[in-house]
Amino acid sequence: MTYKCIVTTSWDDGYPQDVKLAELLKRYGVKGTFYITTSNQGDIISEGDIIEISKYHEIGSHTHRHIILTAVEAYICMQELRKSKEILERILGKECISFCYPRGAYNAAVKECAKKAGYRCARTTQHFHTNFHDPFEMHPTLHASKYGITYCVKGSLKLHLLGVKHIFDWVSFAKRTFDYVYKHGGVWHLWGHSWELEQNDMWDELEEVLKHVSGREDVKYVSNGALSIHNVL
Ligand SMILES: [Zn+2]
Repeated sequence: MTYKCIVTTSWDDGYPQDVKLAELLKRYGVKGTFYITTSNQGDIISEGDIIEISKYHEIGSHTHRHIILTAVEAYICMQELRKSKEILERILGKECISFCYPRGAYNAAVKECAKKAGYRCARTTQHFHTNFHDPFEMHPTLHASKYGITYCVKGSLKLHLLGVKHIFDWVSFAKRTFDYVYKHGGVWHLWGHSWELEQNDMWDELEEVLKHVSGREDVKYVSNGALSIHNVL
């Protein structure tokens, strides 16, 4: 079955607050892909929590050490892509098909590495897209960030239809971008970091956005991986 409007979300880096975020998304029936950096450095999510989150959401790879893949040789790129995939597959006991480019840095060679490593899709950080063409250039619609909206005003979305003043208020902007996709068709893809929600006290704001986009019978709520492998659009 195909749907006119798809909602997907993705959350980067693998922070302990991902647990709270996963529960909030689940409460509203919204799926997320949690992209984990596997090198075990810093304040990161535990293996047990990764397994718990994977019961409802998807776990994707975000490389092993969160390095900029366009800045390293191809064999290092392959190592990073394969190692994180292997670690996550060992933890989860199932295939890890989704990948996210650290800092959104990719080129044709990196894309090729992601395909060769066995992934089925890769997310970028290019904003304001509402369509889905290339699974290895899965562009999101907006960043769940108080201050991140204004610096990235580009992409395929017709911003003038949304009203420029709304780009300064991410909740209003999120609702309006969803309304646009709901009316015209396409993919509404919210991405961010759980640490950012925590640091900027954005939990209630995210909940307001989730209330707005959730529970609609004619909308399909999927993970990034499900969007890439199933023909839902
Ligand atoms: Zn990252």
